[in-house]
Amino acid sequence: MRNRCNGKTKSGKPCRAAATDGGLCFFHANPSKASELGRLGGRKNGHVFAVNSVPLPPLDSAVGIRETVCRLAAEVYAGTLDPRAASALVPLLNIQLRAIETAEMERHLALLESASKGGNGDEGQDGGSPRV
Ligand SMILES: [Zn+2]
Repeated sequence: MRNRCNGKTKSGKPCRAAATDGGLCFFHANPSKASELGRLGGRKNGHVFAVNSVPLPPLDSAVGIRETVCRLAAEVYAGTLDPRAASALVPLLNIQLRAIETAEMERHLALLESASKGGNGDEGQDGGSPRV
């Protein structure tokens, strides 16, 4: 039979966490740890990456990347985004942008290739005029 913690939650209900040897769960046996974690979780500025936590636009297009870069710059400038978060995102955005550019270029090349192939075929058909 498993022991339950003898402590109580903030709302006054019995704590349902599994108890350690002392009859209390980890958090009730280590109240300082709990408040430490609570402080970390409740911190509203300083170490939170995106305070306003507006979701990023889709990053599957060059436009989306450009919008994101603009927003990151604005948010860092306004102090609502940790500069470390921005500097962590920038290399990722660069990689994504390069991948998009490469894919775009390949698509354009394929279009050009098929267009030029079609053109040559037609000219060959019309080229022969009868000799007199
Ligand atoms: Zn407990």
